[in-house]
Amino acid sequence: MNKKWILPICIAIGCILFSFLIFKDNIFPPKPKKYNLQKLHPEVQSAMEQWMRNVEKKGITIKIVEGFRSIEEQNELYAQGRTKPGQKVTNAKGGQSYHNYGLAIDFAILDKEQLSWDIKKDGNENGVADWDEVVREAKKLGFSWGGDWKGFKDYPHLQMTFDQSIGELQEVWE
Ligand SMILES: [Zn+2]
Repeated sequence: MNKKWILPICIAIGCILFSFLIFKDNIFPPKPKKYNLQKLHPEVQSAMEQWMRNVEKKGITIKIVEGFRSIEEQNELYAQGRTKPGQKVTNAKGGQSYHNYGLAIDFAILDKEQLSWDIKKDGNENGVADWDEVVREAKKLGFSWGGDWKGFKDYPHLQMTFDQSIGELQEVWE
């Protein structure tokens, strides 16, 4: 090929790529953004991230072990210890847990790379159990804690209800 064509061809390719970048939204329209029910509510997500940073400063590392849970997953969990083998882990059927609406998380403390649910341990040795410290920090950010429930206590569980009962949430999503 004649050398004098190299520059014009490069310019032409550049123009095509450039116009593709500009018009790509017209060629492939982006999918409309919807609130994704498969995820945590955005405010819960950001409070969770803030909370993790706050406790990290106290020398405690949090690991989130559960967030959004689908109705089917919740029903599976409910069956455990009832119609399926295992221990009962929840009293909520599908649709009855704040997890089903992206408003709840379950956590563990990371202790030497291992997940720990030891609510008494004072890993950062400041005289207060780490679990109490992280729960206190979570409440400051608006979470309520499963350990405060009467009856069945769910120590790894935090939720943000925005003053909505499960019944109200079920109505909205049905
Ligand atoms: Zn939970």
